[in-house]
Amino acid sequence: MKQEFHEESTPFDAAFTDAVDLGNKLAERDKDADLWDIADGLLAGAIQYWLYSRQPCKDPRCTECMPVSTAEGRMAEMQRLIRQLSLESEYYHSPNDSNVGRA
Ligand SMILES: [Zn+2]
Repeated sequence: MKQEFHEESTPFDAAFTDAVDLGNKLAERDKDADLWDIADGLLAGAIQYWLYSRQPCKDPRCTECMPVSTAEGRMAEMQRLIRQLSLESEYYHSPNDSNVGRA
């Protein structure tokens, strides 16, 4: 059953799930670890991999690479993604947010 799921899942789903699982594993392994440190490390690794993946090709006129053909372009694209993925996250809002009204 599990095998079937993995065959159907997209590379995006697999990377997302494995990254969250890795965070949980690291927290499980070191009970004293600060979850913020683990999360920051995961984010740093994700940023590293993402920037690596967005290196433009050697053709300076390549239209596909145009949006990521400069460091500023890559940052703009990454920030667009960060915003979109954050808004889609089930943890975007927290019931403990300071701007949540409590009766
Ligand atoms: Zn290109």
